[in-house]
Amino acid sequence: MDEPSGQRTTDDRRPTTRNSELGTRNSEPNPTPDTQHPTPETVADHRFTYRMEARHLTDEVQYLKGVGPGVAQILAKLNIFTVGDLLRHIPRRHEDRTAFRRIADLRPGELATVRGQVMDAQNVPTSRKNFFLTKVLLSDGSAMAQLVFFQQPYLQKQFKALANEKRSIVVYGQAKRSGYGPVEIERAEWEEEDPDADPLSTNRIVPIYPLTEGLGQKRLRRILDSVLQSYMDCVDETLPSAVVREHKLKNPVFALRNIHFPNSWDALELARRRLVFEEFFLLQVGLARRRAAVAHEGRGQAFSIEPRALSHELQQVVPFKLTGAQERAVEEIRRDVTSGRAMNRLVQGDVGSGKTVVGLAAILMAVRSGYQAALMAPTEILAQQHALVMRRLLEPVGISVELAIGSNTGRNRRDVYERIAGGQSQVAVGTHALIQEGVEFRRLGLAIIDEQHRFGVLQRQALHLKGERPHVLVMTATPIPRTLTMTLYGDLDTSIIDELPPGRKPIKTHWKSRGSADAVYAKAAALLADGRQLYVVCPLVEESEKLQVRAATQLAEQVATEIYPDYRVGLLHGQMKPDEKDDVMRRFKAHELDVLVATTVIEVGIDVPNASVILIEDADRFGLAQLHQLRGRVGRGEHASFCILIADPKTEDGRARMQVMVETNDGFRIAEEDLKLRGPGEFFGTKQSGIPELYVGDILRDHAIMEETRQAAFALVEKDPNLVSPEHVELRKALERSTFGFDLVHVS
Ligand code: ADP
Ligand code: MG
Repeated sequence: MDEPSGQRTTDDRRPTTRNSELGTRNSEPNPTPDTQHPTPETVADHRFTYRMEARHLTDEVQYLKGVGPGVAQILAKLNIFTVGDLLRHIPRRHEDRTAFRRIADLRPGELATVRGQVMDAQNVPTSRKNFFLTKVLLSDGSAMAQLVFFQQPYLQKQFKALANEKRSIVVYGQAKRSGYGPVEIERAEWEEEDPDADPLSTNRIVPIYPLTEGLGQKRLRRILDSVLQSYMDCVDETLPSAVVREHKLKNPVFALRNIHFPNSWDALELARRRLVFEEFFLLQVGLARRRAAVAHEGRGQAFSIEPRALSHELQQVVPFKLTGAQERAVEEIRRDVTSGRAMNRLVQGDVGSGKTVVGLAAILMAVRSGYQAALMAPTEILAQQHALVMRRLLEPVGISVELAIGSNTGRNRRDVYERIAGGQSQVAVGTHALIQEGVEFRRLGLAIIDEQHRFGVLQRQALHLKGERPHVLVMTATPIPRTLTMTLYGDLDTSIIDELPPGRKPIKTHWKSRGSADAVYAKAAALLADGRQLYVVCPLVEESEKLQVRAATQLAEQVATEIYPDYRVGLLHGQMKPDEKDDVMRRFKAHELDVLVATTVIEVGIDVPNASVILIEDADRFGLAQLHQLRGRVGRGEHASFCILIADPKTEDGRARMQVMVETNDGFRIAEEDLKLRGPGEFFGTKQSGIPELYVGDILRDHAIMEETRQAAFALVEKDPNLVSPEHVELRKALERSTFGFDLVHVS
């Protein structure tokens, strides 16, 4: 660093312990005494000796120079507790303060950093009551700029003081032209220029950090600088040297210095690449080990299936010819379950691609090998539908199917469980509660989890199903972007069904404003008159289930009495009793109802081929994946199908979602767009999704590095699954400290 800090004196001394690179909070300090340790005679300063003995990346920040308990509390809000956490606090961007833009040269729309002297500051009232703009005039000699801040009237005093002292500030923001006046910069980020020309904040590429209340950029820069001065000796190379060489990576000290205080833009890029690589590499080694462990310890039952007999029986059971993609998936499953290793497979396919049949084929494999199978769905409605289909297809060939769901009460439920435990029933269909309730099987060989949104958790739980270790087949509700599959499910094998059954007419999607809703309902009436059926999805009410039910009920009444008085209208929502739901679904399926007004309970899996129109009210309130799922309720038969989105979106994001829906039917593309719009964290909704928390890498932006690390990591684990060779020791330690899972036993 350019700046000598108070700790400069310690620079050339060796710290005593070097146990961790970016160590996590709970890693133990390494007690090994250091032979290089200077004796008290050579170091007179007592505090100095103390620091040298204690220095680790796991040191708590409050003992750092310039921090103390107060600042430590503020840092804790940013999840920074240790020196390692600090180093992992990556700038959200950098600003080039070696070369500022001239205000006179700013073009409208340009994002730029300028420097100038504060000339004046005014609070300006607006037409909205109690709403002030603060306008600040700034001059850099070339021209004036006007900064505009919203509803922060206290800023005026601050800027006035700066103007009186003729002080300069550095400003970052987007330039805007308004009329003939000076160029405007709204909601600028700004910082006083240091009178003493603080070298961390001027004349260089400067880091801009995520902050929290009570902590300024400058203080954080000073703290980081001091850590970078005094802790770099604790930073170890965790990556094997062969990997570093082959992938042309910078060393970790270079990377940390330059990610915070880059010497150049190039250095920053190299630093970032190194850190992202390291992070992804650890993640992938974790996944590779998990996969290796599953493969090794997973002595699954080896089903005995003759491929020709299987294909013959499938033809007999299934009323149509499988698509090529379905055939491929079935064959991949067959190879898994006959291999002697436990299957752990993810079947990905767009809505309506025909995943159920693939599951059915797997069930046949289990049953014909003398095992039982469990099929689990996310909702009772879907479980009921599955049970219906399975019974219809399997009972004629002598396979008995039980529906085991929560609403089975009393005696009936006991009977069902007994038949499963006794082995009289070969197939149990239920909700995910089948796992939680620990239903006993006589000889469970296969667990299928259908329409799963969030696997991480469940899929692994499934492995603990009672009975022998079953093969596991997970079927997705929505295609997952490849970028995520690699990170989340890198330990699963994947089959992709990328072909729709023949004869499908693509669903036409239209986006209409609320104003034309009447016309839309009128048009749909023509299709009803033609004998088709219609779904109406009511607006999403997120506040409460009660309000949601009320909204659905009201809409259903309106549809039944005002809009379609001549047609039979049913209602389906989440608060209905299971047998009520069942009854409504059955009647809709049997075409005893023409219109089904529903909440998102129909989102997943429901299959009524004669229903060819779905009308979604206030569609912009739904997420993309959800909309695509809802749309997937139609287009399941031979009729031309329509999805009508009624929406007047108020946000850019909402418009973007409607646009994507209109543009494409391709679930994989929608998944990618969804991921882009929402970001990986939001994509699956919850923290439980199993998305690893990354501190520097970005799954989307850095997917090329993810690919690179994946190959390197899987190759390494294949050669040294337990990371026991000397050049993998640091890697192993780093993995143990990381959150990427080293939770599996030794791979033997
Ligand atoms: P999803 O992948 O969404 O679970 P389903 O398994 O529910 O899809 O299948 C959707 C519809 O397509 C069902 O009505 C099913 O019977 C039908 N189907 C599935 N595979 C084929 C096929 N190969 N040929 C014709 N129809 C098929
Ligand atoms: Mg399905």
